[in-house]
Amino acid sequence: MTASHPSDSNPTESTLAARGGWTAAFTTQTSSPPVYMTTAFDIESLEQLDSVTSGREKGYIYTRDGNPNHEAFASDVARLEGAEAGVVTASGMGALTAVLMAMVQSGDHVLAARVLYGRTGQLLNHMVASFGLKVSYFDVADVASIGALVTPQTKLCIVESISNPLLEVADLPGIVAALGDIPLLVDSTFGTPCLIRPIEHGAKLVWHSVSKYLNGHGDVMAGVIVGPSSLVRKIRAMSSLYGVNANPFESWLASRGLRTLPLRMERVCATALKIARFLKSHPQVTNVFYPGLEDHPDHNLAKRLLPRGCGGMLSFDLAGGRSAVDSLFRALAHVIPFSPTLADARTTVSYPAGTSHKFMTAAERAEYGIGDGLVRLSIGLEDPGDLQRDLETGLAAIHG
Ligand SMILES: *Cc1c(COP(=O)(O)O)cnc(C)c1O
Repeated sequence: MTASHPSDSNPTESTLAARGGWTAAFTTQTSSPPVYMTTAFDIESLEQLDSVTSGREKGYIYTRDGNPNHEAFASDVARLEGAEAGVVTASGMGALTAVLMAMVQSGDHVLAARVLYGRTGQLLNHMVASFGLKVSYFDVADVASIGALVTPQTKLCIVESISNPLLEVADLPGIVAALGDIPLLVDSTFGTPCLIRPIEHGAKLVWHSVSKYLNGHGDVMAGVIVGPSSLVRKIRAMSSLYGVNANPFESWLASRGLRTLPLRMERVCATALKIARFLKSHPQVTNVFYPGLEDHPDHNLAKRLLPRGCGGMLSFDLAGGRSAVDSLFRALAHVIPFSPTLADARTTVSYPAGTSHKFMTAAERAEYGIGDGLVRLSIGLEDPGDLQRDLETGLAAIHG
């Protein structure tokens, strides 16, 4: 705008300080997108307000509802997943909250895989106890059991494309066929669009903890949901209403992380297979869970659904149980940290029985195969030979 402002010519100190001198000074193209660290966007007229709020004109009003950094990231993920639209949220859990608020009401019924990320199960339990949601769980390996669980109130089904921590692969086409018209939400945090695109297999919505692979550098907390525009619009409205919106800087960081996702996934798939084979041959290790191994129960399914690789997560059981895990973690501490996250650039180890699945009883954990000697490994970008040597040294320390 060129019209001069009443106090433009000779502002007093407080006016100068409060308004600043910034105008759209940087009209040259930046080669990296700027961070729109702004609470709101100035509006030129009431007419413009109407055309932006009605969607006739593209624009932004208030960052809780939308921001260019949110949109840049969410639309990149939508394109990678083959979806129409997406919304970025404060965390993976924020994304699930927004989906549930948009898709279910008290008395509705949700179907969910029995073994899910711990907090997903906890959020569903909370919705049951506090809001009268009904939830039925099924064994993801038993697609035939789904049909009998469907009721007229079933509004949503939730599964993970590759599960935590035992790396079960979901038969997405089989599940979609069993569900009929009921929308399927796939948590594809372990899968990423580089390995599997659930929408191509009939899923309605794809959900990611951006805190993991999509960002990939262990320095962001965010979530994303992608799917059909009409549904994403409702989910975005709930994200704003419940205040689980992402912030611009983390969206910007996540966009930067996304630039290298295909390279990172290619690398972790190759290293994970090598390390899985190494662990399998080690005398301290009684079992290795990685779908790329020929004897994993889902190996054939993985060959069909994950032809580019099975990802960077794997788990293994130590013969010596909890005390063996403790001595391994102590021995590894300076090279492979025990860190209750995953998909960092560094390799990390975690202990499902004490972190992600602590909320289960010991009997439940035993039933699902999450034993006291189970270690989860998140493969990073290090040299594969160095990693194998570090694990060899760590495992050797268990004797001592
Ligand atoms: C971490 C994680 C989540 C939750 O995401 P946050 O970003 O931590 O809220 C959901 N699902 C899976 C599989 C995860 O690993």
